[in-house]
Amino acid sequence: MTYLWLIMLLFFVGGAFLLLRGRAAWRTTGLPAGEVVYSDTGQWEKQEKPLVSRRYGLVGRPDYLVRVVENGQTIPVPVEVKSRRRPAEPYASHILQLATYCLLVEDVLKVRPAYGLLRYADATLRIPYSDELRARVLATADAIRAARSAKNVGRDHQDPNRCRNCGYRRACGSETLTA
Ligand code: SF4
Repeated sequence: MTYLWLIMLLFFVGGAFLLLRGRAAWRTTGLPAGEVVYSDTGQWEKQEKPLVSRRYGLVGRPDYLVRVVENGQTIPVPVEVKSRRRPAEPYASHILQLATYCLLVEDVLKVRPAYGLLRYADATLRIPYSDELRARVLATADAIRAARSAKNVGRDHQDPNRCRNCGYRRACGSETLTA
């Protein structure tokens, strides 16, 4: 249960990156933009069970694992499916979510994928699973753990629309509705 809570928080914090959707802001994130994949090769398997990493204290379930063969080795590549069309740049939250699955595959299945796939309604992006992205996932998970024991966690965005539609607004005390 703790793991589930942690991964939900991971996605929530990852959502904070949505503010960085603009191209200019995007460049400062250092996250990969991804490359369009025109054909999906390999065997797609629906992932029914969550992958649980006790080592990293993470749990998550990619929508699919695609088995691709590279250099004679079968590599499970995680796939996250989004029903919407491909945004101008992939959201940081989507990339962090996918990279978390890559880390889980690496730890649980003992094979490190070179990339994950973000599948939108109109395109599939290949997102390289780099050392830097891996480190970003671990740093985000650490930040979440630190926030869990903090007395107060301040608002991490300036987006009034998010607050307007937020279910925690009444209890929050930190909402921004004027910008
Ligand atoms: S109301 Fe509070 S919890 Fe909700 S989005 Fe705004 S700052 Fe975040």
